[in-house]
Amino acid sequence: SNTNESLMQRRNEAVARGVSQIHPIFAERAENAKVWDVEGQEYLDFAGGIAVLNTGHLHPKVVAAVQAQLSKLTHTCFQVLAYEPYVEICEKLNKLVPGDFPKKTLLVTTGAEAVENAIKIARAATGRTGVIAFTGAYHGRTLMTLSLTGKVVPYSAGMGLMPGQVYRAMYPCALHGISVEDSIASIERIFKNDAAPSDIAAIILEPVQGEGGFYVAPKELLLRLRALCDQHGIVLIADEVQTGAGRTGTFFAMEQMGVAADLTTFAKSIAGGFPLAGVTGKASVMDSVAPGGLGGTYAGSPLACAAALAVLDVFEEENLLDRAKSVGEILVTGLKELQAQYKSIGEVRNLGAMIAVELFEGGDLNKPASALTSQVVVKAREKKLILLSCGTYSNVLRILVPLTASDEQLNQGLEIIRQCFAELA
Ligand code: PMP
Repeated sequence: SNTNESLMQRRNEAVARGVSQIHPIFAERAENAKVWDVEGQEYLDFAGGIAVLNTGHLHPKVVAAVQAQLSKLTHTCFQVLAYEPYVEICEKLNKLVPGDFPKKTLLVTTGAEAVENAIKIARAATGRTGVIAFTGAYHGRTLMTLSLTGKVVPYSAGMGLMPGQVYRAMYPCALHGISVEDSIASIERIFKNDAAPSDIAAIILEPVQGEGGFYVAPKELLLRLRALCDQHGIVLIADEVQTGAGRTGTFFAMEQMGVAADLTTFAKSIAGGFPLAGVTGKASVMDSVAPGGLGGTYAGSPLACAAALAVLDVFEEENLLDRAKSVGEILVTGLKELQAQYKSIGEVRNLGAMIAVELFEGGDLNKPASALTSQVVVKAREKKLILLSCGTYSNVLRILVPLTASDEQLNQGLEIIRQCFAELA
């Protein structure tokens, strides 16, 4: 029978080297916040397939909705023969995405594709081609999104330079001494040095930086960006691929930022484990692309739309936005207790249930502790907890546990993290 090791060997022979794997484990089945591997070992899942499982693995309502759709049809291609679930999820997202203006939605399949299309729409709306993205950003692995993603190794290493006309602004981060003022000044510098504002189609940012280290954008930054965009006719894009679908305690993180983006990208947890993504935004901006300019064969698959509609119901029925806040409080309280004990824990931060612990050697903010971070991830796995790291220097532990996990499971995970620090730090 299969073992993790034998499957790893076959994987290494058969799968392209560029596809990395954080844990040398082959999953066989999963339920809510638990995963079992091919050897029958049970794990507590604090990774959620990288922010995809806010409603947990195989939520019964999501499964039932997909099964019901499966008995009708799985594919027609929305651009050939349309179907109601696509329209219904767009109607709901038009209401949920922040912004006091008429909205329209495009569905696609992946987060990167959503970002690609947001840029296309911004270009069509403005007749401009420049884009401003931020240090530490992650927007995907396709060519355009790699230009926007602010981390060369491993994402674009060895591939040459990516398509141009992307300018990089500083993402503010109080912990590392970068203020909102510095961030705005970096944009003003782009306007002076590199590209006139009248050549910039869009500014794109993550309201809480995800892969870059779970840094929450200060509200003040969003206010300033909104004003800059309004002044210069630039489209403001909020990439909510990781922050969206309730992770931060509101359905979209931008609800907490005091201003609305023109375009919002979403993906990951929106469909509870099925591939669905998209762009929602100001109708006038969205409609600047002519018929045929947007879409895709599988874009807005009926199964994924059915899953997403069920996810929205589950959020209501199980009050998961409030739950995101309490998951955040429970875990942050426990992690701050740990911080008081271990110098290496430089900061515990969160927005709702998007929770991070940043580690430094001996507490020195100039020495990111990437080795310790990966040791904690390995040790936690040995103790049957699946964790992830992130950050430009890979020194941030991040938690994306299903919001449907029980308090007992949260405490179980905390206890394992405690044991890891006791043994390693
Ligand atoms: N944007 C953000 C903010 C993300 O976190 C990610 C994925 N980690 C993406 C875009 C890309 O999404 P996908 O992997 O579905 O293409």
